Amino acid sequence: MENPKIESLCKILYQERLNGFLDKTVIGGLDQFLKLWKFDLKTVVINFKSYSSLNPSQRRTWANSILNRCSNNFTCETKGKEALRTPRISTSYNMKSNTASLYDDIRLLKGISKGTFLKLERLGIKNIEDLAFLFPRKHHNYANIRKVVELKPDEEQTLICTVLGTTHVGPNKRKRSTEAMLGDETGKVRAIWFNQPWMKKTLRQGIRVVISGKVNIFRSQIVFESPEYEIFQDNDGFLHTGRLVPVYPSTNHLPQRTLRRLVKQAVDIALPQITDFLPTELKSHLQLPDLHDSILQIHFPDSTSDWELAKRRLSFDELFLIQLAVLKRKFEWKEKGKGISFIRNKCFLRAFTNSIPFTLTAAQVTALDEILSDLQSDKPMNRLLQGDVGSGKTIVAIGALLLAKFNKYQSALMVPTEVLAEQHFISITNLLNGEVSATEGSKVVSLEIHGFDDPIKIGLLTGSLNRKNKDVIHKLIENGDIDVIIGTHALIQSSVEIPNLALAIVDEQHRFGVMQRASLEQKGIRPHMLSMSATPIPRSLTLTLHGDQDISTISQLPPGRPLIRTRWIAPNKRESAYHLILQEINSGRQAFIVCPFIEESEIIQTKAAIEEHQRLSETVFPDLNLGLLHGRMPLRDKENVMNQFKNKELDILVSTPVIEVGIDIPNATVMLIDGADRFGLAQLHQFRGRVGRGQHQSYCLLLSDTAGNEARERLRIIERISDGFKLAEEDLRIRGPGDYLGTRQSGIPELRIADITDHELLSTARREAEKILRNDPNLSNISNKLLLKRLQSFSGNSWI
Ligand code: ADP
Ligand code: MG
Repeated sequence: MENPKIESLCKILYQERLNGFLDKTVIGGLDQFLKLWKFDLKTVVINFKSYSSLNPSQRRTWANSILNRCSNNFTCETKGKEALRTPRISTSYNMKSNTASLYDDIRLLKGISKGTFLKLERLGIKNIEDLAFLFPRKHHNYANIRKVVELKPDEEQTLICTVLGTTHVGPNKRKRSTEAMLGDETGKVRAIWFNQPWMKKTLRQGIRVVISGKVNIFRSQIVFESPEYEIFQDNDGFLHTGRLVPVYPSTNHLPQRTLRRLVKQAVDIALPQITDFLPTELKSHLQLPDLHDSILQIHFPDSTSDWELAKRRLSFDELFLIQLAVLKRKFEWKEKGKGISFIRNKCFLRAFTNSIPFTLTAAQVTALDEILSDLQSDKPMNRLLQGDVGSGKTIVAIGALLLAKFNKYQSALMVPTEVLAEQHFISITNLLNGEVSATEGSKVVSLEIHGFDDPIKIGLLTGSLNRKNKDVIHKLIENGDIDVIIGTHALIQSSVEIPNLALAIVDEQHRFGVMQRASLEQKGIRPHMLSMSATPIPRSLTLTLHGDQDISTISQLPPGRPLIRTRWIAPNKRESAYHLILQEINSGRQAFIVCPFIEESEIIQTKAAIEEHQRLSETVFPDLNLGLLHGRMPLRDKENVMNQFKNKELDILVSTPVIEVGIDIPNATVMLIDGADRFGLAQLHQFRGRVGRGQHQSYCLLLSDTAGNEARERLRIIERISDGFKLAEEDLRIRGPGDYLGTRQSGIPELRIADITDHELLSTARREAEKILRNDPNLSNISNKLLLKRLQSFSGNSWI
């Protein structure tokens, strides 16, 4: 190349390509350079106005055309006919070639056998669109095009050559391999395709082929072993060789060649029919390439940086649509109608502070303040209160329940299990320093609290109450004679009317589906909603799972809690765990023993717990009192056992994993989890949270007779980390987002390409979604029309 300025321009453009066309290569921008050397560049830069005003995708197109023009100059001038050596590798789509629609069956594609169709169908790929959106898992980098003399062992590379001859080798007729001698003007190289006798027919002598793969050295000669190949065609782009070649995800033994061929056809059909739904302004602001380009580049990228840009764009789309959906829900909840605005005054705050037995931690004060501020507003609250086990969420909830009463409204507290409902009923009564003035049956208490006009009536409503008691409670609720209703799912059955409901609190909310929460919402006119969760989840997931809620976090434990010592006990040291329990009980403490989790059925689980209880009572702790708790016991029996344990009549509570949530026994100091390897980190952490609730040193002992590598890693992590939020991050790291979400939460969208833990992109997506909805809450502006359409189809076949 004789013109050094053209050469510089090429270098700049290559650099730009590496950096995603962000116009960062030239200080002050590429336009400065173009302007300065306008005259020298006039043969390649024709009729061009400005680089800076283009988006990255437009810049790429322009840069490619310039580089193409330069390389034509280059090859013509210096190497003549050898220009063929690096044919431009492109994947073009032909708008007219096919009239199929995006939603047509894949059987319309050329060369799809019945077997292939069935395999794809089993993977959930039915129409053209599904196939175009089957994104590659990775790419082989075959873009390095070399001559025979330049081939290097162990590197992915491509050779364009001529077939000089082929033979069959190998003893067995059916298993014969094909060996070919290939050559270019610099030399010859051997290639072998094992067990593929038919290759001999494909590689006819004298044709030009493109071979991609690694070469090995065999008897001091280089050889390609089962490389990718493709017949060289002058104008058509390469599919299997000579470029970044896509490798698709696990596909039921479908050959990659078949997939590539079909995906390419699908992409060709899909692209002209896809409209880019992102507003242009947003794209240029975030420097995102357009959708067509991204789909093309995600499959058949021109360069690694093009692939990265495409991945960023497509990932952004997924996160952005999720954020739009959840935020839209959030806006609608607030805007749909007025809620009830509570009065909060000094009088109330004094009454509340005086009625509780301790001083709130700073974190509790902040959370309570956020909640009470929401309750003052006439926009209905939709807030999540998250905090590690034992961080003291209950008292904050009580603050809100009392404010409802102070304002003469009813409120409800819904919990996932009867044990927990009972527990809350008792502990709320105990926590409030009121006088129990009257009880109407055992399921309603009436508390006199200083500063309140009249007594606060708290009622318990659970599924296992007998008909008569249930009817009595229903009546009281309907007449407005109960202020705070604590209950399980029975609460949301349609026969219960809560006429004056203004606040609904859901504890351990991860146990409830969105639908259950929704039906509670409908009980009142527009009740304020507060969800509480003791399952810490990683920060990045909060934005998705609770994206429609405001969030308060209690990030500190009440003072004076000694750290819980967590130990993984080797299988042959089981006795030492029992010994520690004995010691603790001798010093006046109590212990939990959780039986191994049995997946098959609750009946088997119960049976195993009964047997274990018997074994422990008879042979291990014959002199102690052991209670048993399992899910199939009638509520009354559960209550009895719980009360006995609370009153220290029992030393040890043997239980199936039902005690996971909410039980508060400050005198219990040992939590022994048998079969600890069968629980996830979050669950183990929940169990551990049952101890360390008083001022005594507490222990969490993990027993596991067998543990695979992953389980061992989990157990080591829980030994080391006590903070629930840090544990959640670790859990996510070990298991990866797919697995983590799959087993833990339901109702999460399946992401094709985005990493839901990519905090940077997620925050960007959320910010942009907020910006758009703030200006256009219903997406009714003409400029957001395509976006709305896309969002509707996204929500329609997905999770929201
Ligand atoms: P969780 O957040 O797991 O629901 P709880 O509300 O059950 O936690 O509180 C755990 C224990 O800590 C309870 O015994 C509760 O009375 C006590 N507690 C809560 N807040 C404080 C505080 N500020 N000071 C002392 N003890 C507290
Ligand atoms: Mg709790």
